[in-house]
Amino acid sequence: MFLRSLAAPLTAVRGIGPAVTPKLARLGIRGAAGLLCHYPRDWEDRSRGVPIKDFRHSRVCTEVTVIAHDWIGFGRMKTLKVHVEDASGRAALLCFNRPWLEKQLVSGRRYRLWGRFYYKYGEIQSSAFETEPVVPGEIPGNPAFGPAFGRLLPVYSLTAGLTQAALRRFIARALAQYAGDLEDELPAEITGRDNLLSKAAAIREIHFPASAAALEQAKKTLIYEELFYLEILVGRRALARKKSAARPASSPRRIAADTLSPLQQRLLARLPFSLTPGQTAAASEINRDMGMPSDQMAHTNVHVPMARLLQGDVGSGKTLVSFLAALLAVEGGGQAAIMAPTELLARQHAENAARLLEPLGLRIAFLTGNIKAAGRKELLRSLESGEIDLAAGTHALFSRDVAYKNLRLVVIDEQHRFGVTQRSLIMAKGEQPHLLMMSATPIPRTLALTVFGDMDVSVIRDLPPGRKPVKTHLAKESNEGKVYDFVRNELAAGRQAYFVYPLIEGGDEADLKDAVSMAERLAKDVFPRVPLALIHSKLDEEQKRLVMEQFRAGDIKILVATSVVEVGVDVPNAACMVIEHAERFGLSALHQLRGRVGRGRDQSYCFLVYSDELTEDGKARLRVMLENADGFVIAEEDLKLRGPGQIAGIEQSGYLDLGIANPVRDAEALARARSDAFSMLETDPDLLLPDHRVIARVLEEAPPFGEVAL
Ligand code: ADP
Ligand code: MG
Repeated sequence: MFLRSLAAPLTAVRGIGPAVTPKLARLGIRGAAGLLCHYPRDWEDRSRGVPIKDFRHSRVCTEVTVIAHDWIGFGRMKTLKVHVEDASGRAALLCFNRPWLEKQLVSGRRYRLWGRFYYKYGEIQSSAFETEPVVPGEIPGNPAFGPAFGRLLPVYSLTAGLTQAALRRFIARALAQYAGDLEDELPAEITGRDNLLSKAAAIREIHFPASAAALEQAKKTLIYEELFYLEILVGRRALARKKSAARPASSPRRIAADTLSPLQQRLLARLPFSLTPGQTAAASEINRDMGMPSDQMAHTNVHVPMARLLQGDVGSGKTLVSFLAALLAVEGGGQAAIMAPTELLARQHAENAARLLEPLGLRIAFLTGNIKAAGRKELLRSLESGEIDLAAGTHALFSRDVAYKNLRLVVIDEQHRFGVTQRSLIMAKGEQPHLLMMSATPIPRTLALTVFGDMDVSVIRDLPPGRKPVKTHLAKESNEGKVYDFVRNELAAGRQAYFVYPLIEGGDEADLKDAVSMAERLAKDVFPRVPLALIHSKLDEEQKRLVMEQFRAGDIKILVATSVVEVGVDVPNAACMVIEHAERFGLSALHQLRGRVGRGRDQSYCFLVYSDELTEDGKARLRVMLENADGFVIAEEDLKLRGPGQIAGIEQSGYLDLGIANPVRDAEALARARSDAFSMLETDPDLLLPDHRVIARVLEEAPPFGEVAL
């Protein structure tokens, strides 16, 4: 326990009543301890003044005089507008749903003002601002956490019905009541060696830092702590796996790495191409993990299931490798399931399996949530009786009513798109099945080893031969007309194009293009009479399927999308990719997007269109895309160039979803934490984890290989 009073319920915190607890629960906050561990997602620097005239650079933080009030709109829709000025200029405060500000902001008086401003209708405006009266001789502020100006203030993730001010107040009170009870968890020699704060001080400073330096210290402490426990966890799993693997393995006769099973050989003989070296290596690693069929049937008492992550760039041919694994499972008398995150992708797998594996005698099924009652019943029956050898599908593969006769292999494609609960539900459909997870997200090797320290990793680094590299060009936004002209020619030559935008719909950033309005503009003004469609995550599955089908069939020529252009989808005739506001995307995300083209016989093109105002650094970053085609190299570059690296897919993927640490950004602390944790485990292999919210979540998130292996 890291808090003696850990068990204190939220309502024990002064000011929190039963009406608030469900809202906090939506943020995952349960109990007073949870409140203390709800770290800010950012800090507002109100310690330095930023005059109104500098509103474009950052948020304004200044002292203003109220000049006048007026009202815009009519009747119940009337909105108060308060005009203010500081020494540098004037601005208008739009008080949506805050009519009471009319009385609070008095003409002629002075206020401290903090807010986000923009330029609209010929004036500088804000609708997101906070004010505080300047009262000579009085230090104003919130009774719970003191002054709201002249310091760093925390910014928290919120949920409906909860304001920033309210959450700050709750946390401030929880700190006052409980921070004194916090015990140090990190070994004293580490805290001393790295000059870290005590747990109590770190928690206080992370929420309400006394200074920028104190905040840095607090971050350093809490980041290290998280990584340390993460590594204890990884280390314990690795130990457990090593121990079980050391027992007599499932294959008493070791097989030669290059031996393929009879069915595997027959599949390869039927293909018009041969495996790439990367595919061959991955396949033999898998064969070694799973054991050959004769070994599988030997019924040795000890079964060490495979737990392997297969990484390979987009288009590297991971599907084929997973089919080879499926053949092995089936030859051993078992069944295989291939799970994909979208129906579209699952269907693609089922169709490929039917084409490649049915001729070898395998019986294939396609299972999604949309299969209707009668057919579904028959399908489930044949899965349970073992008449089906390979099932491809979505998460429907582990619906409650689905049972397998003998599920021997689970393949999870685009694994980062699945939560851990989903992973363990499908695993539970078999008796310790082998697990193959596949991902096109290039995770730098050091990171993969750390985060998947308890898994084996195979990497396919090569692409099938004969692919024409995509020609990549950078273009300024003001030159976009030329890009459009180029695409128009390609379309005229019969090819198709993607246009990608960072947003679905216009957000509060007025000068950012978004998919919805650009789809309209492209259809109306730029490419009239060219069939065009829009796809993004807010459409339902059926709509997405229809759009993708029409695009694949060539009935739609232009697909306007956000970065969620379906993963893994293969449309060889699409030869152009235009990414607007390219500077808004991480390099790895750009790489993934670019991987949608270059799949056919024609030369493909990728245009990265960037803002005219992009800095030299920003341009240098985009240039990495011109010089590199290897996703791993690009991921490493991304890491180097932007400290808080944003490797596509990793951040959202759960396994790096820590409270404050970011294993990519904090790679150095991670390495130290790893060696500390591992050397402590050497002396005490049963080292216990504290009951820590963040670590508990990681535990939940990480797939239970350690357990499986035992
Ligand atoms: P990904 O690794 O992105 O999932 P896929 O498995 O979808 O890639 O493969 C992309 C394409 O490459 C498919 O059309 C597949 O048939 C083809 N392919 C796979 N392996 C080879 C190979 N060794 N030689 C040539 N083409 C291959
Ligand atoms: Mg794939």
